[in-house]
Amino acid sequence: MPRFVARVLYAVTAVILTGVIWRWEPSTSSPTTTSTFVVTTTLPTTTTALSAPVTTAISTTLPPLRDGDLTGFSVTIDPGHNGGNATRPDVINQLVPDGVGMKACDTTGTATTDGYPESAFTFTFASELTLILRQRGAIVTLTRSDDHSIGPCVNARADIGNSSDVAVSLHGDGAPMSGSGFAILTPVGRGPSAQMTKEANRLAGITRHQLVQRGMTPSNYLGRDGIQPRSDLAGLNLSTVPKVMIECGNMKNPDDALHLTSSEWRQNMAAGIAEAISVFLRSRS
Ligand SMILES: [Zn+2]
Repeated sequence: MPRFVARVLYAVTAVILTGVIWRWEPSTSSPTTTSTFVVTTTLPTTTTALSAPVTTAISTTLPPLRDGDLTGFSVTIDPGHNGGNATRPDVINQLVPDGVGMKACDTTGTATTDGYPESAFTFTFASELTLILRQRGAIVTLTRSDDHSIGPCVNARADIGNSSDVAVSLHGDGAPMSGSGFAILTPVGRGPSAQMTKEANRLAGITRHQLVQRGMTPSNYLGRDGIQPRSDLAGLNLSTVPKVMIECGNMKNPDDALHLTSSEWRQNMAAGIAEAISVFLRSRS
């Protein structure tokens, strides 16, 4: 074969192969993907008072997967803490506004006695709950998009939630080993939260009912019948939309730790919280 013809054939073959490979490149940005994260990323509506950077002071907003009973509603899910918080105590310990005064940006969170971190639990559980809410048609915003960065601070988390119809913060507690069960922490009307406290309490009552119906046990050490009013939480004080904080269990209690690390148990709790959000939003006047 003449050298010139061989070169032309080689060039044509290379162009064809390049085109095939390009077409096979999987899309990572389609809104129809079942991937839970990184569809769109937006900056928070306000910034923290910190001088040092908080690397994940961002929210991640995910569109609905399909029509459902939450179509047209927006929900913020706030997975407590972040996996990188322990690496920057200078950032995490800085004071930020908490609605009535100043409070530390955040903490590192707790862990099971086996060392499974609270931030990992809340991030996993938030992703599972987010999927259910999106399947019901909700637009869901997460206050953080990974579990290895720092922050955002508690005040920034509240700010992110204030752009949604309702917000739920997820945590695991680090109490003495004898304590067990879930607790729903509610605002008491301090700071900007005064306008939403009544509705937050209604959301808490609906959530408790749904969780108990699903066989879950209210806390034997926090609050009463699974609900505990709290005046010291910036994430609640600074919220202007109905918001509750759920201590899903005590990570130091062996039985609760088994629950929190069980995907089956988490699925049941996530379904209960999603149902509570649906009942709450669809019954608002
Ligand atoms: Zn926590």
